[in-house]
Amino acid sequence: MQRSLRVVTRSPEETRILGASLAPVLLPGDVLSLSGDLGAGKTVFVQGLATALGVTGRVTSPTFTILHEYEGRYPIMHLDVYRLDSFQEILDLGFEEFFDPRAVVVIEWGEAVEQLLPRRYLRIEMRRTEDPEADDDRLIVFKPRGEDWVRKVLGMRDTAEALLDAASPDQSTGSRFEVVAGPRGDETRRKEA
Ligand code: ADP
Ligand code: MG
Repeated sequence: MQRSLRVVTRSPEETRILGASLAPVLLPGDVLSLSGDLGAGKTVFVQGLATALGVTGRVTSPTFTILHEYEGRYPIMHLDVYRLDSFQEILDLGFEEFFDPRAVVVIEWGEAVEQLLPRRYLRIEMRRTEDPEADDDRLIVFKPRGEDWVRKVLGMRDTAEALLDAASPDQSTGSRFEVVAGPRGDETRRKEA
């Protein structure tokens, strides 16, 4: 059984708050894999995360350069593997060398390199919702791989509930998060069926 945590954000700011809420539980060596189409909000999430880790410069998708490195509380390796169209190209880059144990590693389009990810990591899936009226809604599903990540994700949830309630008190009716237990990979589909 795999426990996932689902939440819908209603603005870029809410997604940044979510990213920021993950920061306190992160440690060097942690790996995050972000999936979702262009415009899903992967980079916005990383912006919130990086800022909360003390990064002061601009955080943008390293789409053309593959890697951006920031100095925060820890070094942050921000990868975007969108443009790597062959697996061989990724291997040729020496991809494993990006997994610096002193750094927090964040990979946009991480599903493309899933076989190269460590056994324990946090998968974060982002997508627009089906609601055509709600252009700024994003469904975000956290899928912890490994017990450590289950614990960290629950820590993130508590922080995020508090920060999101403070940011938009009008919406604070119960928990925004939903825990989903189910087989790997199917959670986002099932809910929308
Ligand atoms: P990606 O890195 O997944 O391609 P970006 O983070 O660069 O996507 O862009 C997401 C875009 O969607 C931004 O223009 C952002 O302002 C917009 N947006 C609208 N609503 C949201 C939301 N709830 N969360 C994140 N981004 C949102
Ligand atoms: Mg991006």
